[in-house]
Amino acid sequence: MECVFCKICAKELPGKIIYQDNILSCFLPRKMEVYGHLLIVPNKHYENIFDIPEEELTHIIKFAKKISLHLKERLGATGINILHASGKSAQQSVFHFHIHIFPRFDNDGLDTWPKLEKKEYNSDEVLAKIKF
Ligand SMILES: [Zn+2]
Repeated sequence: MECVFCKICAKELPGKIIYQDNILSCFLPRKMEVYGHLLIVPNKHYENIFDIPEEELTHIIKFAKKISLHLKERLGATGINILHASGKSAQQSVFHFHIHIFPRFDNDGLDTWPKLEKKEYNSDEVLAKIKF
C-alpha cells in the first residue's frame, strides 16, 4: 500500500489525527495552508468522488458540518471554506478522496476563491445536456 493517506489512517505513518471513527479520519495536513487547516478522508481507499460509496460520503459531509462548528467554537472561526478536487482535470494531487477544511476569520486577508477566466457560455445548451 503506497498511499500516504491510507498509511496515516492505519497509523502506519505518524499523522496529527484530531478525530477518527470507523469510516473517516480527520487530521492536520503536513503543511497547513491556513491556520487550522484540516483534511477529512475515508479510512478506506477511494480515488475520488466517482468511486466513494454514498453512505461514506454522507458521513464525511456530516462530519464536515460538525468539525466546522468545532472550529468556530475552539478557534473562533467566522467562516469555513470546504475545498475538494476529484480527478486529474480538477487538479487532484493525492488520489485518495479528501476534502480540505479552511477555517476563516474576519479580516484574515485570504482569497481562496479560484480566479477564472471570464468566458461566455450558453446556459440553454448546458441545461439541455445536463438536466437531471
Ligand atoms: Zn489511500
